Amino acid sequence: MIPYGRQEITEEDIDAVVDVLKSDFLTQGPAVPMFEKTVAGFTHSKYAIAVNSATSALHIACVSLGLGHGGRLWTSPITFVASSNVALYCGAQVDFVDIDPSTYNMDVVALEEKLVNAYKEGQLPDIVMPVHFTGQSCDMRSVHTLAKKYGFKVIEDASHAIGGEYASNPVGSCEFSDITVFSFHPVKIITTGEGGVATTNNKILAERMELLRSHGITRSPNKMMNKKAKDWYYEQVDLGFNYRLTDIQAALGISQMKRLDSYVIHRNELANFYDEKLEGMPITLPYQIKEARSSRHLYVVKVEESKRGDTFDFMRRNGIGVNVHYIPVHTQPYYQKMGFSEGMFPEAEKFYKEAISLPLFGSMSLEQQDEIVAKLKMVLEV
Ligand SMILES: *Cc1c(COP(=O)(O)O)cnc(C)c1O
Repeated sequence: MIPYGRQEITEEDIDAVVDVLKSDFLTQGPAVPMFEKTVAGFTHSKYAIAVNSATSALHIACVSLGLGHGGRLWTSPITFVASSNVALYCGAQVDFVDIDPSTYNMDVVALEEKLVNAYKEGQLPDIVMPVHFTGQSCDMRSVHTLAKKYGFKVIEDASHAIGGEYASNPVGSCEFSDITVFSFHPVKIITTGEGGVATTNNKILAERMELLRSHGITRSPNKMMNKKAKDWYYEQVDLGFNYRLTDIQAALGISQMKRLDSYVIHRNELANFYDEKLEGMPITLPYQIKEARSSRHLYVVKVEESKRGDTFDFMRRNGIGVNVHYIPVHTQPYYQKMGFSEGMFPEAEKFYKEAISLPLFGSMSLEQQDEIVAKLKMVLEV
């Protein structure tokens, strides 16, 4: 089976991990801050906080921005469930903003309409979380303008988008947001096994996230009540978690970061080949906005609703690991129990009924790509 995504591990990656295994620190050693420095440098952000998953990063991002009981977070329904679940961890309410039918990202016109209504009802969100679906940045300039006007904070869920660019800056620079989050799960652009990073330019948020990832405990005398303490002393000053990344994982991340640029270039080439080869078929190809350079995490096409199921089955039967991203979060049983129902976000629901993700990963060969296209032709052009 040709998988829809796959990690690439080199001998250099393996050596980097083995070096840590032979060193003094498996966790809380020097590799984590080095990985953070690498990611901050790459994204042109001031601070990067590494944790054990993007889900954890999104969670502490919300907590550091003060999201709690009675708070409100809005995100896109076309995302992985973690984007909205983190608001529920905080005891806050979740709502969704429908997607733009061409980019499948949060529709900023729908966002503005929803904000106008929420303002009238005194129900404005505290946080809006755009998701850079497939690696293409959302219209962050517009989100930022609305954030200033309506006073909400912005967390970019850039789990798909490390290595992407928006408005001539790397995604993660936080030019138009408070915090950006990346995932390093193996299906994403680069990997640490499991892992996530939050970037920000705000020192207070960075320090709070650093505390939150490790129990809310500090060893910095200037953050303690008791400043004259001995060396063994530490204080818990906040309620945190154990969301630490290990040095084993961080070493893999540092090694993988070296290939990030070349991966994104290659993924764009593969996506362009798909565009060319699929042209003229009864398929909607991914639409790219001018202001963004996508990291091309996913290559999502749309086929007629009546043909989607059969197309999916045919491809899977023929060894092509197609997938579907995503089932709209508001239609998940857990969310339906909270009062959401089908029909609430029609563009997201329509997209879901037509979407298929074709395989796309760094080590994919042109022969594999030709095979995928040939199979698609077989099933769609009969
Ligand atoms: C993968 C993903 C997450 C969660 O990432 P983990 O690192 O697995 O926790 C969150 N949001 C989106 C959009 C994702 O694709």
